[in-house]
Amino acid sequence: MNEKLIVVLGGGESGVGTAILAKKMGFKVFLSDSGIIKDKYRDILNSHNINFEENSHTKDIILKADEVVKSPGIPDTSLIVQELKEKGTSIISEIEFASRYTSAKLICVTGSNGKTTTVNLIYHILKSAGLNVGLCGNVGNSFALQVAEKDFDYYVLELSSFQLEGLIEFRADIAVLLNITPDHLDRYNNDMQEYINAKMRIIRNQRVNDSFIYWEDDPIVTREIEKLKPEVTCYPFGEFKKEHTVGYTENGKLFINTKGNMFNMELELLALEGMHNVYNSLASGIVAKLMDITDDQLRISLSDFQGVPHRLEKVATVRGVQYINDSKATNVNSCWYALKSMRSKTVLILGGTDKGNDYSEIDDLVRSKARALIFLGKDNSKLHTFFDGKVEEIRDASSMKEAVDLAYKLAQKGDVVLLSPCCASFDLFKNYEDRGDQFKECVRNL
Ligand code: ADP
Repeated sequence: MNEKLIVVLGGGESGVGTAILAKKMGFKVFLSDSGIIKDKYRDILNSHNINFEENSHTKDIILKADEVVKSPGIPDTSLIVQELKEKGTSIISEIEFASRYTSAKLICVTGSNGKTTTVNLIYHILKSAGLNVGLCGNVGNSFALQVAEKDFDYYVLELSSFQLEGLIEFRADIAVLLNITPDHLDRYNNDMQEYINAKMRIIRNQRVNDSFIYWEDDPIVTREIEKLKPEVTCYPFGEFKKEHTVGYTENGKLFINTKGNMFNMELELLALEGMHNVYNSLASGIVAKLMDITDDQLRISLSDFQGVPHRLEKVATVRGVQYINDSKATNVNSCWYALKSMRSKTVLILGGTDKGNDYSEIDDLVRSKARALIFLGKDNSKLHTFFDGKVEEIRDASSMKEAVDLAYKLAQKGDVVLLSPCCASFDLFKNYEDRGDQFKECVRNL
């Protein structure tokens, strides 16, 4: 028995996974959540004989911790974290903790948009090639739970900026940085640089034999790389070939030039539509080539990938109008890509909990592509202030059913109805999945 006490803050997916792994590694474990722990997690904690509390943080125990593993949802500004910091207690993330107990190769993906799509695509490619690979992090199981229960040879990890914050010695074998655009600024004192710094932690500790794949058309990313001058081997990708570009497009094809091999594929054959998904495919393709996946296998996997629900998901065509669920577009940039990839006039449903959005980014696309806008949220005033007078039809809806019914009336044959809200969903829905599911249900009932 290891006498060290590990305190886990937060009793969600990440915290519960950490507690199980810590217990398995022989530590004394205490999990504390200042809110209510979901039944399913309470049952798991009980079945593993893990001490825990909810609705409070008992300082007498927490401040005795040898190390604290903080769940990503808990901000640094919370009182208990402040006290632990003052005391000098080591505070790490679940990802840092779990990485100590696996020798698997780690492929880590971050970015403001495209993480879930890209990790799923990479996972699909590697799994189809027969590798013993796990997919976790910000998607599915926590990394810690996976390491505790069934370790793999390779992990594809989706890492949010919150998860990256608590990394100390963690090192990614392959790091992928898709893009950096404003998101979650409420958590970063509205300071974009703080958010950027969190994202750039993905290359922390990487060495020259490790790989860093990044989108070189992103001015923020390239500026940071200039600044940090990392020693890692870089694999930039972008729309067009520049001096060192490894993945790019040319004449309707995608090219990946690694290890003296030139992979190419018609863009038309890619399973995922839209320029943003060309970027996601380029990033995933570079990972695949670095891992010696054959050209044939890669070509098949890039073309037979099934996509991920709530990301430009085709729901149905009703009376000649196509309905697309992009509920995961919780910021303006992802809506920009969604609108950009629309080939027809679009009735756009947007709105929800605003995260400090600047709608000027989609102004031009809305003016040129939107037949109508439907604002779906508790408070649509900011949307009205920005868009009123720019599109002929603008309506308000206070439920998904109302929004879909309005869209049905306003759309003309050949149009698209697109749910791509630019906002979080918590004003009217449990989460973005609930919002997307309700959309699909309403469309099916039309
Ligand atoms: P994340 O996990 O980073 O939130 P997702 O794959 O879930 O990313 O996609 C979120 C939203 O962003 C979706 O609406 C999707 O259409 C859009 N998106 C996907 N990839 C990109 C990208 N590379 N750049 C910009 N937007 C993207």
